[in-house]
Amino acid sequence: MLGAEREFVINYRNLARKHLKHANERLAGGADQSLKYAALDLRMAMEALTYDRVAAYKGEFPPSEYETWQPRKIMMVLLEIDPMADKDSSIALGLEEKYGVPTPKMTSLGTEKVLGLKTLKKHYDALGSYLHIQSLKSARSGKDINYEKIRGRCEYIAKYVSEALSSPVFNCTIGMFANLECIECSKPIRKRIPSGKDSVTAECFECGATYTITNESEGKSKWSPHQHEIECANKNCDHKIVVWNHELELGRQWECPVCKGKNTFVLAIDFKDAPN
Ligand SMILES: [Zn+2]
Ligand SMILES: [Zn+2]
Repeated sequence: MLGAEREFVINYRNLARKHLKHANERLAGGADQSLKYAALDLRMAMEALTYDRVAAYKGEFPPSEYETWQPRKIMMVLLEIDPMADKDSSIALGLEEKYGVPTPKMTSLGTEKVLGLKTLKKHYDALGSYLHIQSLKSARSGKDINYEKIRGRCEYIAKYVSEALSSPVFNCTIGMFANLECIECSKPIRKRIPSGKDSVTAECFECGATYTITNESEGKSKWSPHQHEIECANKNCDHKIVVWNHELELGRQWECPVCKGKNTFVLAIDFKDAPN
């Protein structure tokens, strides 16, 4: 279709499955020399799972974050926007018999095994060290490569990845969100309000406008744009323009629409004599 934007979609879960399958085949082969390939495939499976996770949070991320390939960095960002991202979650549903009273009959939809940040870091780095040749220092100290240890670690991680992949609850994110149409560019902004936080800063990924969202009662939120009213510097003109925080830049200029004079942001220090 002409003019339509085609989104490039990768099925990261399938990719993770593929790498896990390769890793398991290497492990089943039993050859010590194959272990590094199993480690590599497991790392790729973990990267794919991390990326799969990102899909659930798309819209809460600046595109510059999720378009670069750094699983660990992405996990950090995930944790920042959702403190629950590192934990397994389970969902249960039930019909309320009395309005507002949770029913005792809850049907579990399952538990989602999430690739936790701590586990990811530990396993990801450990597997990375198997991908390099033995260091001179460790070779000199007469240490043999402990293939049994590597195999044990690989098997443990393969099981972990497999559990994450067979989870019945697929990438759910639950949270409180505040929504607003950006007052500058009209693009929708969606921001998660972390529990226990009264205010949070939201940024429009489209135009860079920023807001402070304040949690008010009954699930309502107040959006305060980071704007400033600035008066024309011409003493005989009182026209005001509105400037966003991200537009406040040294040397930035604008023409006053009323007096046609040119204004420039400059750095200035105001000095007054010491009081007597
Ligand atoms: Zn905007
Ligand atoms: Zn003016």
